[in-house]
Amino acid sequence: MNCPYCGSPLRAGDRFCPNCGASLAAQQAAELSSALRAAQEFSGAAAISSGAEALDETPSLTRDFAVTRERFNLILGGTLLWGFVMNILFCIFFGRAAAQLPYEAILIAYIVLAFIGILINTRSTKPIWSFVGYNLVVLPLGLVLSVLIEDAGADAVRETFQITAAVTAGMLLLSNWKPEAFSRMGPCLLGALLLTVAAELVLFLFNRSFAPINIIAALIFCLYIGFDWARAQQRPCTADNAIDSACALYLDIINLALRILASRSRRRD
Ligand SMILES: [Zn+2]
Repeated sequence: MNCPYCGSPLRAGDRFCPNCGASLAAQQAAELSSALRAAQEFSGAAAISSGAEALDETPSLTRDFAVTRERFNLILGGTLLWGFVMNILFCIFFGRAAAQLPYEAILIAYIVLAFIGILINTRSTKPIWSFVGYNLVVLPLGLVLSVLIEDAGADAVRETFQITAAVTAGMLLLSNWKPEAFSRMGPCLLGALLLTVAAELVLFLFNRSFAPINIIAALIFCLYIGFDWARAQQRPCTADNAIDSACALYLDIINLALRILASRSRRRD
C-alpha cells in the first residue's frame, strides 16, 4: 500500500504518510462517513415516516407521539446537542487511550455499529429505539474523533470547529429563510453524494487521490444541512421524527467537519 498523495510506501496502521504528512486517518473516516450518510438516505426513504395516523399527545418512550412544532425542534436540538456533548466528553476522557488502539479496529467497529444504528434509527417508529440507534452512531464515532483530534493538533481542530459551527449556523438560517429552495434539492444532493462515494471507491481501488473531492463533499454536506432542516420542518411533528431528523443532521455536520479536517490536518511536528 502506498500513500495516495505522494506514492511513498506505507506500513499497516499508519495514520499519517511518513513522507508527505497527509492525514490518512481523517480521510478514511470522512470517506466512510459519507458512505454511511448515503446509506441513511436509502434506509430513511424505505421506511415510511410515521405521523399520518392520528397520534395522541401522551409522551411515551415506546410509542410515537405527537408534539407541537416548538417541542419538535426542542427534541431535535436536544438530541443533536447530546451527540456533540458525548463526542466532546469522549475526546476529553478517552482521547489518549483511543489513540493507542489500532485505528483499523476502531474504524471497523465504527462502520459496523453506525450502520446498525442508522438502520435502527430510520426503521424504528419508537422514540426510545431511534435514540438507541442514534447513540450507536454517536458513541463509536466519538472514538474515531478522539483519535483524529489527538493527531491533528489544536490549531486544525479549532479551525475545523469554528468553520463547521459558522457554516452550520449560516445554513440553518438560510434554510429557515428559504425552505422551498432547499426542499427541491433532495434528488440532486443524493445523486451528487452517490457520485462522490463511487468516485472515492474507484480512487481507493486504484490507490489514487484527488484533493478537490474533499471540497466537493464539504459543499454537498453544507447543502444537506439546509435540506435536512427544511425536510425536518415539513415532517409531521412527532417525537420519533424529531430524533430521526437529528440523526441525519448530526451526520451532515460531522461529515462537513471531517472533510474540513481531512483537507487541513497534517502531521504535528
Ligand atoms: Zn504521502
